[in-house]
Amino acid sequence: MSVFVVDRHHQPLMPCSEKRARLLLARKRAVVHRHVPFVIRLTDRKREQSEVQPVALKLDPGSKTSGMALVRVEQRGEGEVHHALHLAHLSHRGEQVHQALLQRRGYRRRRRTVNLRYRAARFANRRRKAGWLPPSLRSRIGNVLTWATRLQSWAPLTRIEVERVKFDMHLMQHPEVSGIAYQRGELVGWEIRAYLLEKFVRRCVYCGKQNVPFEIDHVRPRSRGGSHRVSNLVLSCHACNQAKGDLTAAEFGHAEVQKQARVPLKDAAAVNATRFALVEALRALGLPVGTWSGGRTRWNRDRFGVEKEHCLDALCVGDVVGITRGRSQMLLIQAQGRGSYQRTNVDGSGFPVGYFTRAKRMRGFATGDLVRAEVPQLPKPLKTEGTHVGRVAVRASGSFRVGKCDGINAKYCVVLQRADGYAYGQAPCPKP
Ligand SMILES: [Zn+2]
Repeated sequence: MSVFVVDRHHQPLMPCSEKRARLLLARKRAVVHRHVPFVIRLTDRKREQSEVQPVALKLDPGSKTSGMALVRVEQRGEGEVHHALHLAHLSHRGEQVHQALLQRRGYRRRRRTVNLRYRAARFANRRRKAGWLPPSLRSRIGNVLTWATRLQSWAPLTRIEVERVKFDMHLMQHPEVSGIAYQRGELVGWEIRAYLLEKFVRRCVYCGKQNVPFEIDHVRPRSRGGSHRVSNLVLSCHACNQAKGDLTAAEFGHAEVQKQARVPLKDAAAVNATRFALVEALRALGLPVGTWSGGRTRWNRDRFGVEKEHCLDALCVGDVVGITRGRSQMLLIQAQGRGSYQRTNVDGSGFPVGYFTRAKRMRGFATGDLVRAEVPQLPKPLKTEGTHVGRVAVRASGSFRVGKCDGINAKYCVVLQRADGYAYGQAPCPKP
């Protein structure tokens, strides 16, 4: 993983290797600007004195996880080769946001029926703005936007590439209507695969199996004059495809499949609603935004022999002739939220069982700060003795938990980095 570098005026420079960062720090030419992700600040250099190459941020937005890849762009012949500088895995908390709102709804409903201050039902007299998205989706968009903004301030970004749609309808030109065949051009084949996966919700149409390698099955087999037209194609597992042999779907005992295959996937745009909103939000950063299809990502992944991993998917987004990834680690970023306004702890039925403190900050620390605690050797040894680094959980008593070690006195702690709404980890990328 590369180290981000900024100049003395906090302007982004090209990221450098970890070894080079170590040397710069040892020679006192740089200071630590931020711990995770690691950013150093050169004390003797301005942006004008440095070479900056084109750097692109590539995104693969997902509902649970989004992949991010920061790449150096090199022109080679007709196309571009992308060299990975930084790979990251961004885990969203959309599901938690959803649960929190369900819980709030429950509390409000109770207050309407229970013998308390009356709370009028108000859900029916609210108007939603055009382009409204539920908070759980907005949180996902917000996370990606936050990270795009942060990366823009640590690296000399020149453009953003996003996987916007799962399949490119334009490239396929209404497959069911125009009778396009899946063997016309290699890329079109991949778009149609992506289309079929969506249309048949990633299930074998015959046995309903999920999470198996799928094959494209011809409802009316090739051997009996069936075409490669998309309306003749369904998704099937290997076993069913074999068992079906040269029967039609109806003869195989699945007349409903024959019918379903002929109905086109309605409203392909709705499938991609959040992704469109994300692209609109990213445009506000003032960088050119390129948009691509998931079919193309899968095609690239197959061509370059890349494993299935969110950040590697991000690396495969777009029009590239090659990618390099080096010995890559990926940064795991987990959205944490910023705590709760609610200061009353309640049990499962909504009755108060305790109260949180009003203050979120205790002796200068807030839960989520990255902290180093150095507990010294004392005449009467403490069981927390030693050095601990990690996220801190604060208590009013001043006895904190740092990482996994509990019961550390606040006076031994030093803040390394303030809580920024995310928790961090690292993992090795799958090897090629
Ligand atoms: Zn099957």
